[in-house]
Amino acid sequence: MRIIFHIDVNNAFLSWTAVEYLKDGFKDIRKFEAVIGGKENSRNGVVLAKSISAKKCGVVTGEPIVHSRKKCPNLEVYPPNYKLYSEMSKNLFLFLREYTPDIEVCSIDECFIDYTPVKKMYGDEKEFAKKIQSEIFEKFGFTVNIGIANNKLCAKMASDLEKPNKIITIYDDEIEEKMWNLDINELYGCGKKTSELLNKINIFTIGDLANYDENKLRKYFKNRAHALIDMARGIDDSVVVSDNDKNKCISSSTTFEKDEYDEKSIIKILDKLIEKVTFQLREQGSSAYVVGIIIKDAFFKTKSHQVKLKNATNETKEIKDVARKLFLKNWNKEDVRLIGVKVEQLVSSCNYQMSLFEEIKEKDNNKKLDETVDQLYKKYGSKVIKK
Ligand SMILES: [Mg+2]
Repeated sequence: MRIIFHIDVNNAFLSWTAVEYLKDGFKDIRKFEAVIGGKENSRNGVVLAKSISAKKCGVVTGEPIVHSRKKCPNLEVYPPNYKLYSEMSKNLFLFLREYTPDIEVCSIDECFIDYTPVKKMYGDEKEFAKKIQSEIFEKFGFTVNIGIANNKLCAKMASDLEKPNKIITIYDDEIEEKMWNLDINELYGCGKKTSELLNKINIFTIGDLANYDENKLRKYFKNRAHALIDMARGIDDSVVVSDNDKNKCISSSTTFEKDEYDEKSIIKILDKLIEKVTFQLREQGSSAYVVGIIIKDAFFKTKSHQVKLKNATNETKEIKDVARKLFLKNWNKEDVRLIGVKVEQLVSSCNYQMSLFEEIKEKDNNKKLDETVDQLYKKYGSKVIKK
């Protein structure tokens, strides 16, 4: 049985700002009705993080500060300091890495730890969680929630159950008791649109979904039905992929035997390279934010071009579309000696959330195709695959 931790900084942006202000002798803004947010009178003046008292006032993360002000007239608004946040985040994960390298960072203030291999060394997981929780507070001055479970999904759910400064377990034999009475929109990985659709077919709690007939659910969610029910039952086999295991970038290139100037032939090769790269991405459970292409001309002059995507992806089709556009935009129609593709700024796919139901259908199809191709790849190698 695995033991997985999910560690989550409580009100990260607000806590981190508070810690920094305290150093300068300023009051502890965590104890007031305070938020971190943009300028109140600007359009992107939204709440990025809120104190517990602000939350009690009804302040919601993501809403315009003008709205929060109506609910909470004494609201104090402090600006974000992203440089500070990334430093705090870096220091926290460095500290945790002193205990184990099996850490998967999923956002600026959250990570998973696979405790299984170090349990013998550190002992009971709840005791260990208490220890690091207080060490983090002493060392850095902010609190964290720690969820403990037998897989990542339940660990994440556990750390969300009650805040702040809590250690909560959802072991396999506690799933029914602790998860099933929760509202369906609290199920990790089940977006807003999905829960609205589930509500329409009378699924309101996680338990409702866990006990729903899969064949019936298939009518509405096609091949996603099985995964949804598994999630509600707290089933998750995904592994903690430590960031050390992941390469910082993945690339692949081909040198042409003869300089190539035929657009179609070049794109055909580019597509093949992308298939290889995205296969590797999915194998290591990563998604990439940056897609780049490399073109070397007949004079051995190399040029690379890249774009940053709004959302990280590991989907073959999506990356092909981007790379093709990049190539067509930047290729000067001269002979090409070498063509390459590179993906960078890799992140773990664990925080991937589907937001728009409209997209899901197409995404599902692409995903299924990708999965099939991956299986063929493993079995027969790259030569067999022609889409
Ligand atoms: Mg957090």
